[in-house]
Amino acid sequence: MANGVEQQGRGWAAWRISGLRQELDEGDGDVLLRAARALGVEPGAVRSQRFARRSIDARGRGRDLHFVCQVDLVVPDGPRAPRLRRLIRSGKVSPAPAPEQLAVEGTPGARLVVVGAGPGGLFAALAGALSGADVTLVERGEAIERRGGKVVAFHRGADPDPDNNLLFGDGGAGTYSDGKLYTRVSDSLETAVIDELVRAGAPADIAFDARAHIGTDVLHRMLPRLRGRLEELGVRFSYGVRATGVATVDGADGRTVRALLTTAGAIELDALVLCIGHSARDTWDWLAEAGVAMEAKPFQVGVRIEHPQELITRGRYGADPRRDVLGPASYNLQSRADVPAHSFCMCPGGRIVASVSESGGLCTNGMSNSRHSSRWANAALVTTLDPAAVEALGHRGPLAGVGLQRELERRFFDAGGGTYAAPAQRASDFLQGRRSTGELRTSYGFGATAARVDSLLPERVREAIFGALGRFERAIPGFAGEEGLLVGIETRSSGPVRLPRDRGSFRAEGFSNLFPAGEGAGYAGGIMSAAIDGARAARAAVASDHRSETGPAR
Ligand SMILES: Cc1cc2nc3c(=O)[nH]c(=O)nc-3n(C[C@H](O)[C@H](O)[C@H](O)COP(=O)(O)OP(=O)(O)OC[C@H]3O[C@@H](n4cnc5c(N)ncnc54)[C@H](O)[C@@H]3O)c2cc1C
Repeated sequence: MANGVEQQGRGWAAWRISGLRQELDEGDGDVLLRAARALGVEPGAVRSQRFARRSIDARGRGRDLHFVCQVDLVVPDGPRAPRLRRLIRSGKVSPAPAPEQLAVEGTPGARLVVVGAGPGGLFAALAGALSGADVTLVERGEAIERRGGKVVAFHRGADPDPDNNLLFGDGGAGTYSDGKLYTRVSDSLETAVIDELVRAGAPADIAFDARAHIGTDVLHRMLPRLRGRLEELGVRFSYGVRATGVATVDGADGRTVRALLTTAGAIELDALVLCIGHSARDTWDWLAEAGVAMEAKPFQVGVRIEHPQELITRGRYGADPRRDVLGPASYNLQSRADVPAHSFCMCPGGRIVASVSESGGLCTNGMSNSRHSSRWANAALVTTLDPAAVEALGHRGPLAGVGLQRELERRFFDAGGGTYAAPAQRASDFLQGRRSTGELRTSYGFGATAARVDSLLPERVREAIFGALGRFERAIPGFAGEEGLLVGIETRSSGPVRLPRDRGSFRAEGFSNLFPAGEGAGYAGGIMSAAIDGARAARAAVASDHRSETGPAR
């Protein structure tokens, strides 16, 4: 198997052994050997083995740096020795999860239309095609080979292109990212998704590295290969085509979508999977008009914080000379102050980017290349605003979050000088409530403008960041000092809208063949979870036959 450990069969058992220590300079073979010994099995009797997870233990600021591993082994089945029973009771050994295939038994030739070529849409198309459906994938942006030019034009002063930007276009929102795959979801489809990513050119260690990331450069090389695989399976790509509405009929089973309306005409279909991403504002508008149920959901608001990478690596790993093996350090911090906050989407050796899809609004995010080679480290520092908090800020209704995002993005755009330069403030000045002076150095391409970021933020967000800075300083010395630069605003870490769907069938409320999925539907947050959710929605879509519905078209 490419990545999954072979599963339990007649006479064989698949076990996951957790908590195995690996020294930084120790080979994998030694760990596998210890795993077999832990089960009381001779190494020669192991039928298959693989690392399921490997993470760094850097507690105590790197005083005892080592890896902690999980290993899956398939070994001869037999009566469980008392030692194995003890290990199972203590949680150190458990049955290895059985991976699932992307394909299901579907309706052959069912016309499946997928909107969005982000991870959700690409894996929806793949799962649909592998299940025998006739798949069309509609993406408003261009193929990756042409998307890049439009992104570059924006960075050279052109207005943001509403269809091709850091959020829209082939590969979706994460195409200019760190390509982190930490947002694991412990789903039985995870192995199948990882296998496909590796097949498209991702490094093989994404299967187990707890800090696995792909990097923008590699992601860009993978997308054409993934497209090639999909085309071989018969998927038709419609790039540069925006979905603008649906033609529906009423049926006994609720409303049925007959056709997707697009800027290139109507596409008739049997099932429609929507993987439109967390910034599909105009798309949510027409979906609401078409009667698709939607509700406001909690989402995150905050800033990016940037430091010299060396400050972070020293703070996490200390002065241990072996730390070079590990590369630039990352972090994942939580503050449990009165208003909680957390770090998110940390990009070691990366840079801050303008995550902008509309003219006149500013939003930051982060990306890195595969080698994490820049001298900067950045992460989002955000708090969660629930619908009540958003209402208290004057925005109501299912799309209230979009209203607040837009208001804040415009406020920061104006405060930055209207050029996509970002308002910025040193962390130490944020804590003192004063404007920063002197040069504000940042990786952000449009540059930083000294501003009272603390005053530009809603009070609740300011309070959350204030509380977090003090706590994070204790975890990483210097975090909240002069070398920490807050750059804003970060409003698109997650989507503010949910499209309610049936838990089992994935159907949108009131519709028989409409399947909202991924981050734009409120069911995913990150590349892996969006890919898995898209695949699951497509499997649900093709597993049912929607072609017999009749009724008046609307
Ligand atoms: C800069 C940045 C860095 C990130 N870094 C990471 C990371 O390191 N790790 C991680 O796990 N996640 C990361 N994320 C988040 C991740 O990208 C998203 O969670 C993920 O892409 C969501 O996938 P999706 O398929 O649901 O939606 P998206 O990837 O947003 O894709 C939606 C697609 O739908 C298209 N679309 C929308 N409306 C229409 C329409 N009407 N007609 C046709 N097409 C339409 C859009 O053009 C877009 O391509 C990052 C995001 C950004 C912006």
